[in-house]
Amino acid sequence: MSKRDFYEVLGVPKNASDEEIKKAYRKLAMKHHPDRNQGEAAKPAEERFKEAKEAYEMLSDPQKRSAYDQYGHAGVDPNMRGPGGAGAEGFGGFAEAFGDIFGDMFGQGGARGRGQGGRQVYRGSDLSYAMEVTLEEAAKGKDAQIRIPSWESCETCHGSGAKPGTSAKTCTTCAGAGTVQMRQGFFSVQQTCPHCRGTGKIIPEPCITCHGQGKVKRQKTLEVKIPAGIDDGMRIRSTGNGEPGTNGGPPGDLYIEIRLKKHDIFERDGDDLHCQVPVSFITAALGGEIEVPTLQGKAAIDIPEGTQAGKQFRLRGKGIKGVRASYPGDLYCHIAVETPVKLTEHQRKLLRELEESLKKGGAKHSPSGESWTDRLKNLFS
Ligand SMILES: [Zn+2]
Ligand SMILES: [Zn+2]
Repeated sequence: MSKRDFYEVLGVPKNASDEEIKKAYRKLAMKHHPDRNQGEAAKPAEERFKEAKEAYEMLSDPQKRSAYDQYGHAGVDPNMRGPGGAGAEGFGGFAEAFGDIFGDMFGQGGARGRGQGGRQVYRGSDLSYAMEVTLEEAAKGKDAQIRIPSWESCETCHGSGAKPGTSAKTCTTCAGAGTVQMRQGFFSVQQTCPHCRGTGKIIPEPCITCHGQGKVKRQKTLEVKIPAGIDDGMRIRSTGNGEPGTNGGPPGDLYIEIRLKKHDIFERDGDDLHCQVPVSFITAALGGEIEVPTLQGKAAIDIPEGTQAGKQFRLRGKGIKGVRASYPGDLYCHIAVETPVKLTEHQRKLLRELEESLKKGGAKHSPSGESWTDRLKNLFS
């Protein structure tokens, strides 16, 4: 039997991200897990499980994935190549996959616990909020106010979720426990009751205002301190400001993700800043003082005679002091030599005269001239 394409096995496109691959694998592994497939379904499920596991092992490893992308199965097949191949693990990986998947489901430090009356309590989901900051704000830090969703007890049903005049009934599936025992193979797994979703209650006539949730979404203003030095992609956690928990579980957290706005002049690289400084070719040739921008205002630098395009000058400490850094980074000014435009007839004449004069001096006026001429000679000889 010919081997199926790993991407096909996982049902993801060739350019799928690591996250997509992981997700697809988890879904398949859950579906075909030996503990969920008994009797006649066991054998085919086991095959699918192994196949998915192998595909995931290959595609989740950047080296193996790129070998596979280039050479197909031959690039990663342990039978085709000696070391470096995947190695036949057979069933060895079951426990590992099992641990991984169920770890995610049940193990997340205190995400779940037992509430009062034995009902399953859930920690609320985390929320994320993207915040754009300018480079100046990132450098200095700022106090920001953001509007985030918040939940209040529904006034119509006073939080019960039931239409006024009606009331919630005890869930018959779990007898109000919120959980059910699932016996599968050797394992007895406690699961959230699928009928009442762990609340232990069923609301026959939900409140119209809150659709049976007992809470309504509102907005609240939150003060957030953005620390000086924050950079693109960093996250600030605001504990307890995520979604509320279920059945009295703790709320999730709010994550504020920083997006740095593009700056007109400066480009940031970690704690360092870079900027292009246009300099006339006269100044570049004669040297002189030029004005450069910094985040703290203007500064002057002396450029030496004969400065070439692309030369960089470092202004120590004029970068950004990172959130955990002890010293600020530096500012690099890259010299961009400008060619003059819209010349008058007189100016053209002067330049031609200059050119004549430079030619007489030969290669000594042209720093890259001699080696450049040599290289061209070699190329065309
Ligand atoms: Zn309500
Ligand atoms: Zn139930």
